[in-house]
This record gives sequence, C-alpha cells and structure tokens, in this order.
Amino acid sequence: MARGRRRRLWGRKWPIGTGLVIGTVVGVVAGMVLPAAAASDPPVVTVGGRQMENLDRGVVAVRSGNGNLVTWRLLGTDPSGTAFNVYRGDSKITSTPVTGSTNYLDAGAAAGASYTVRAVRNGAEQAPSVPSLSFAGGYLDVPISQPGSQYAANDASVGDLDGDGQYEIVLKWDPANAKDNAQPGVTDRVFVDAYELTGQQLWRIDLGRNIRAGAHYTQFQVFDFDGDGRAEIAMKTADATVDGAGKVIGNSSADHRNADGYVLAGPEYLTVFDGRTGAARATVAYEPPRGTVSAWGDAYGNRVDRFLAGTAYLDGVRPSLVTVRGYYTRTVVVAWDLRGTSLTRRWTFDSNSDTGYAGQGNHQLSVADVDGDRSDEILFGSMAIDDNGRGLWNNRNGHGDALHVGDLIPSRAGLEVFKVDEDSTKPGSWMADARTGQVLWSTASGGDNGRGVSEDIWSGSPGAESWSAKDTTLRDTTGKSIGREPSSANFLAWWDADPTRELLDGTHIDKYGTSGDTRLLTASGVQTANGTKSTPSLSGDLLGDWREEVVWPTTDNRALRIYSTPIQTTRSFVTLMHDPMYRVGVAWQNTAYNQPPHTSYALGG
Ligand code: CA
Ligand code: CA
Ligand code: CA
Ligand code: CA
Repeated sequence: MARGRRRRLWGRKWPIGTGLVIGTVVGVVAGMVLPAAAASDPPVVTVGGRQMENLDRGVVAVRSGNGNLVTWRLLGTDPSGTAFNVYRGDSKITSTPVTGSTNYLDAGAAAGASYTVRAVRNGAEQAPSVPSLSFAGGYLDVPISQPGSQYAANDASVGDLDGDGQYEIVLKWDPANAKDNAQPGVTDRVFVDAYELTGQQLWRIDLGRNIRAGAHYTQFQVFDFDGDGRAEIAMKTADATVDGAGKVIGNSSADHRNADGYVLAGPEYLTVFDGRTGAARATVAYEPPRGTVSAWGDAYGNRVDRFLAGTAYLDGVRPSLVTVRGYYTRTVVVAWDLRGTSLTRRWTFDSNSDTGYAGQGNHQLSVADVDGDRSDEILFGSMAIDDNGRGLWNNRNGHGDALHVGDLIPSRAGLEVFKVDEDSTKPGSWMADARTGQVLWSTASGGDNGRGVSEDIWSGSPGAESWSAKDTTLRDTTGKSIGREPSSANFLAWWDADPTRELLDGTHIDKYGTSGDTRLLTASGVQTANGTKSTPSLSGDLLGDWREEVVWPTTDNRALRIYSTPIQTTRSFVTLMHDPMYRVGVAWQNTAYNQPPHTSYALGG
C-alpha cells in the first residue's frame, strides 16, 4: 500500500523554480513528507520533487566572544514564514521569534550551554529540536579509531545512516604508502569507517589486499539510493574485501597484486553496503571490466585504474549511483539504481561508441540539471552526458584537474561551467554554457593549469569571479581582468555573514580583498588530507545554518575536528543540503582530486 502511494506521489508534477522565498533570496522549492516505504522505515521528504533527507534542525552552539552563537537549519520543507524560538535549557531566551535568519547570539552565556530551537508557525510553537551540539572551543571533535600508526584520516562524507535526521560520518583511511597510479609499490589496505557525531563507531569495511590505496582508486558514495530513509555506501570492491559485518566478498585468500603492487588481474566488484551495519547488501561485477590493460593508455596499470564516482538524479526524482572508468583515453560512465536488494545497471556511456568523447574527462566530475528538464547531467571535464546516458556535448578541450559548475553568471539563463586545461594546445581556462558547452570566454594557454576556481568571492563585481594557477589576474563574468588574484586556488566555504564565499585552503579560511586577503579562521591542531592538494576531509553545510562547516583530522588522527562559524548573520537560506545539486556535490566531493560543492543558484543574487 505505502509503496503504491509513494509511486503516485513521485509521478506528480512538481513546481520547479518557484517556491520558498526566504529573506531577500529565493531558496529551494518547499517540499513535503512522503509516507515511509515500510512501517519501520523513517520518512523521506521531497524538495523540488526530488527525494531528499529528512534532516533535523542540526542545532549547534559555537563559542563566539563572551557568548554562544546558536545556529540551526531552515529546511526545504519549512513553510514560508516559519520563525523560531530559542531555548537555553528550559528557558526561552528570544523575546520574539527569530525571523529572517536561523542564528541567535546568546551574549554572556557560559561556554557549553545547551540549546534547543522550536519552530513557530502561524503563532503556534512546534516541538523542540534535538539539543545543540557544543562547539565550546569553536569546534566539535568526533573521536575516530586509527587502524594503525601508518594511517591518516583521508576523505570523509556524510549521510543519515540510521534515519534519525542526524548525519553520521563515513571516513576513508589511507596508509602512508598510498600511491598515485603512476607510481609502483605495494600499498597497505584501505579502510572505510562510519561514526556517529559522538564518535561511536558503527562499523569498519576492510577493502582488502586487492584494492590499492591512492587518490584514484576508492571513490565512495554515501547517499540514500533506495529511498528507505537511510543512506547506503557504495564503492568498488574485490576478492578479500571484508564488509562491516565481517563477511568476506569473493575469495578471501586470493592475492591478485603483481610485483609492482598493481592489481591487474582478478574479479572487480561494485558493492553497496548497508549504512547501519556496513554489511554488503548488493555486489555486482564492476562495469566496465578492465579488459586489455593497454587499451586504456598504458600497459603498466596506471590509466586502466582511473576511477571516479558520483550521485545523480537521472530520473529527476530518485538518486542513481554513477561510476566512471578512464579519462585519458577510453571513457566509460555507468549509472546504477538500487532497488530493494538489487543493484541494476541503468545505462552505460562508452567513448568507444560515442566517438569523439575519449580523453575529455577530468580528475573529478560535477552533477547538475543543465538543460532544465529536471533530470541531472554528468559534467565530466570537457564533456557532458545527458540523463539518458548519451553524449550531450563535447567541446574537445580535453582533460584537466578542476572544474566548477554553478550559476556563475547570474545574468545569463541557466548554469555555467568553468574549467582549467592541461594541454598546451588548449586554452588555459574557459567559461562555457553548461547546457551546450559553448565557450563564452577563455584565457591564453598556460600548459598544465592545475588549479582553478570560479565562485562569487567579491561583492565588487556581480556573479562569480574566476582565477587559476597559470593566470595572473582575477576575472569577472565576462573574462575581463578585475584585480589581484586570491591567495589560494583550492576550496571555498561560506563562513562570514554575507553571501559571497570565502577561500578555504590548507587549515585556514580567508576573505578575499582587493589589496589582500583577511584571515578569518586558523584551525588549530589539525592537518590537511591529500598531500599537495591540501584539502579538508570534508567541507559543506553539514550542521547549523547555511554557512559551511569544515572537517579536518587532528594531527594525531584521533578525531575529526569540525569547525562551524562563530559569526552572526542577518541572512537566511534553506540548508544547502536541501539543494539537490549542492547535496550531490557534497557526495562527489571525495572523488579523486576533491573539489568544493556548488549551489544550483547564486546566493548573492
Ligand atoms: Ca543519523
Ligand atoms: Ca537507503
Ligand atoms: Ca537535465
Ligand atoms: Ca552550516
């Protein structure tokens, strides 16, 4: 019964591009709660017609001067006009309900005080939230369990693994001898753990000796793929992978490594793991098989093992898993659907059939609905794949290390893509229409341009500013030079009060300024992940209001330290995690060369 009703609801037309007006900006579309798939399942919500997480308020209390800044989520399901009362313990501390923002500075309050918020609708106070998480020292430490002294906490992701509305953290551990695929050498095993925000460990997956450690091998996706209100974890596995319940996948004694540590023989699998237990729920043969190793660009095992992954709403409503093999030569993108216990292939894109698409992919991908038909496309370097698995465009600028997709030029209809190129015969960087791939402007070739960013970081020019490692200036939406380049070209984070975004690099956050950047945060006792890439384990709007949290491992690898802003704001946006494009961006963030997520709309207008 319940399933049938949900299908009918999914079949309805949902208004896209209309909806909730918050403050001075238009947020994502208001949603509704769907009945659970089974009586025991938590409810699932839709936002903009898409299945989304039924998140709680995510209340945090961050030490700010002599008080606590309390921030919480405005949800995509909140009706317009929702206001909030804030309580310290049992005492209401807001004389009138908070409107126009979802933060409150409790000046003079003791560090560590506990808060709840209650939504107020049509004058009626709703049930209290879960009590705040305490960021008494400016951060929250989530204890983690290092598998051995040679391991460093690497990439992380979040999902609601148990369906209680609070995120859990999924963390990959990389050994010190992890390798770029170009380097020979046996590596230690890769582990993937799950933790509650209290540090309670839920499970550990041991990927085993036949999965090599390195940035281009294990790409894990955390998402509620089957729509039962709990997130699953999907990744490539092999003989001797041990799931979170202790069960071996394939042959436990098989050792397919060659003398150089490469794994170029033996079966390859794709497994979806249950988020609550880490138990394997479905395992299928990885597509495509490696076939002839040299057909991917070299014979020693570098280019055959270039993997990426993402999550995309290919039918406009439910999320599909997307996996990729290859980008220097042959490029294969495969979409998968999890329904019940069956993981089935939705489509395969193969540059051997779609000729001309070989060699265009990046070290990461983005996912966005670029043609306005409500279903997502895959933006992969200098090409895009339509929601049905067919090539959408290919502007033949080739492979590169970074791309950004968003409403980078708000005065133009639709989304744009900014990318840096590696090939000296191609532009150094370019801005294109994300629907057609048509290049709007480009910069001179600079050879291997390894870094580039596009985002609205400065209010002095409308829309996004763009810059890159081999360029010498900051550029406006037309490509015109507008001033000095920022001090970094890496990650981004909304951290202060205004809707322009800050620079995140290493263990610090900086505000761009025309004469110099201003340091807003220096994180203490933490380290970055991914070597010279110098990225956090994760960044995104994980908790509290719309500003972004940043997760770094402590230098002793005993905790993930989450920072949340102590800065008060008068602005309000629906939690960015209820913007489906941003949410899938957080899911693909850990893929290969990590990149920050982007919203589907320009926060600054
Ligand atoms: Ca949870
Ligand atoms: Ca699920
Ligand atoms: Ca589309
Ligand atoms: Ca936040």
